[in-house]
Amino acid sequence: MGSDLYPVVALFGAPGAGKGTQSALLVERLKFKHFSVGDLLRAEVAKGSSIGDLASSYMNQGKFVPDYVVNDVVKAYFLENKEDKVILDGFPRTVGQAKELRTLLKLFPQIRFCAIQIDLSPSEIKERIKSRFMCAGCQTIYSKEDFKSQFVCSKCNSNEVTVRKDDAEEVVQTRIDEYQTNVSDLLDFYKSGGILSVVDGSGSAESVYKKISSVVDGALGFSLGRS
Ligand code: AMP
Repeated sequence: MGSDLYPVVALFGAPGAGKGTQSALLVERLKFKHFSVGDLLRAEVAKGSSIGDLASSYMNQGKFVPDYVVNDVVKAYFLENKEDKVILDGFPRTVGQAKELRTLLKLFPQIRFCAIQIDLSPSEIKERIKSRFMCAGCQTIYSKEDFKSQFVCSKCNSNEVTVRKDDAEEVVQTRIDEYQTNVSDLLDFYKSGGILSVVDGSGSAESVYKKISSVVDGALGFSLGRS
């Protein structure tokens, strides 16, 4: 396969399933670009832009932001980043988004696409979210289990911590419900296209990464190399 082909990997899974952690490993080790619609929307909320104002009312309640908003943001991203390997973290989340993505990707014949679902039981999801916190300096997500003593962020050295607003118990439940309402249609959409892999998300980040990177290798038909 020529070097002018670019893998685009859509990672999806319930909140807390490990999409962010696995995206960070793929970025660090396989040099993917990380495109998280959630991060982008949070940045728009922080800026107080019109997209941010619209998105925040949905995000605060744990609901999906409407497809037309998210699809526009993703389209703009692809038009600017034509020649990159990309991890789509948390996109698509609905069949409407998946269809839009399919149309968009047809514009880029050099892209090789695969979809990976990180599967985790509802009880494990809740446990992971309970132990999740965020660096107040740079918004990186961590688990309490990784810090038995003083917290120091490995990215920005801050020792201030906070939690994501939408990790509050009642909001998390809505986020999980939104995911579950949409996921089976989304899985069917990708299963029928033959481009879906489901990876068991329990176990260490490292063991899940091994499974994901081998799916990525296989789906793309060439080795991306691993560290
Ligand atoms: P995340 O950071 O991926 O957990 O996303 C945080 C929030 O952003 C979600 O609860 C949604 O409100 C919104 N969001 C992120 N990605 C999407 C998407 N693909 N479709 C709709 N809403 C999204």
